Amino acid sequence: MTIEWTCHVCGKVRPDDKISVFTRTNVVPGTDITFQENVRYCNDNPECAAGAPEITWTSRERMDPLKEPSPKEVYEYETMYRGFSILRLIRYWIGELRWRKKFWERNKCHDA
Ligand SMILES: [Zn+2]
Repeated sequence: MTIEWTCHVCGKVRPDDKISVFTRTNVVPGTDITFQENVRYCNDNPECAAGAPEITWTSRERMDPLKEPSPKEVYEYETMYRGFSILRLIRYWIGELRWRKKFWERNKCHDA
């Protein structure tokens, strides 16, 4: 069985050995909460490698985990992830929401 990952830059599903991860520490906007952000990219495609540092999951107002994406935001996502279909984008977004909810809940526990 081979493990496959989706490249966050071009949106293609690639085998494990063709995917690398760009990691940075990011801050939740308006707070001093830091966390690690991982962006997957095709390590055999220079365009994907160059595009990975430009992708961030916390930019702009999208950080609000309860907010639904507006059509404009969906369009922005589409532009950002060229090659992603809208359906995959929405599925991806829902996955991100779940992850963020977990993240927020975890942080709440830490503070208590
Ligand atoms: Zn790629």
